[in-house]
Amino acid sequence: MKTTFYHALTTTSLQDKLLSDACCEKILAGSDVELLPLLDAAYQVRKTYFQNEVQLHILNNAQNGYCPEDCHYCAQASTATTDIDAYPLKPDAEILEEAKRAYESGAYRYCLVMSGRGPSPKRVAHLAELIHTVKTHYPIEVCLSAGLIDVESARVLKSAGLDRLNHNLNTSETHYPKICSTHTYQDRMETLQAAQTVGLACCSGVIVGMGESIDDIVEVAKALRQLEVASLPVNFFLPISGTQLLETPTLTPDYCLRVLCLFRFLNPRTEIRVAAGREHHLRSMEVMALYPANSMFIDGYLNAEGSAASRTLEMIRDAGFTVKTNSENTEQLNQDEVEKRDVLLKDLKVLRPRMESST
Ligand code: SF4
Repeated sequence: MKTTFYHALTTTSLQDKLLSDACCEKILAGSDVELLPLLDAAYQVRKTYFQNEVQLHILNNAQNGYCPEDCHYCAQASTATTDIDAYPLKPDAEILEEAKRAYESGAYRYCLVMSGRGPSPKRVAHLAELIHTVKTHYPIEVCLSAGLIDVESARVLKSAGLDRLNHNLNTSETHYPKICSTHTYQDRMETLQAAQTVGLACCSGVIVGMGESIDDIVEVAKALRQLEVASLPVNFFLPISGTQLLETPTLTPDYCLRVLCLFRFLNPRTEIRVAAGREHHLRSMEVMALYPANSMFIDGYLNAEGSAASRTLEMIRDAGFTVKTNSENTEQLNQDEVEKRDVLLKDLKVLRPRMESST
């Protein structure tokens, strides 16, 4: 592919213009579209709005399991037989202690996540109190993921100081009935619209690899662009045994990186987060995700563990990126010592195998 193609992607994105469906499909699957120039084109857009900074998020799974919904990919669904440690909402003291730890470790954002279809007005009032306490004590950004929410609930949470509401679209409207039957894509869309009605910033993203087509990826990427979401987590599907969706996705590192580039071109100013599945699906190419994406989770995901925080920090620094932290603990994460690894020396058996066998 000629260099003008890659250059045009950057320019179109920086001018906030929409890419055609054909162009999006080419990014994802064009055999003549090479990965390195594509990543560089996406990086030019990322650099314009986020320089070389990486935002790190810590996720608190505040309530696990007990969900009446049947999202086919989720270990907490009523239909899942996965052996998870289900627990109702953690006590306030535990949530506040975890918020303190996230703040003191320098994390930029603390994400409070709970299972369930959506909170009752009583639960919303409780969450609002918790959020207010966290925001009063620690200057850290707080994001909440609590299921379906209406305008009134969104208003209460916003007044309590909530910075962002997370509610993922997960996949395209077309593909949605294949991954859930207890609520619809429209239900999810209405939650995001409720948040926007009261001026609450939205975080909404996708799970790639749930049997969707390339057209579905383009469709949902464009829907998120239209919503102008503030942040966009891109998860790569991790099949968990006991859930309804067990097909192993045929995701390659190359394809995952193309998906991240597409989301960057279509959402130039949005915080793009490479989320669950990054270690598993990107493997040795993981660091390349930093060129289109500017945000990551440390300390794992909802029901899956991630790599050690020190390894993520090392990867970020080795590639010449810096960590964006909360205002008070600016230097903490950037100065944390990455665990030193001893060099393992080969022993005699490896160095002189013949000698060993002849003795
Ligand atoms: S994704 Fe959320 S709503 Fe769906 S089953 Fe899991 S916890 Fe319930």
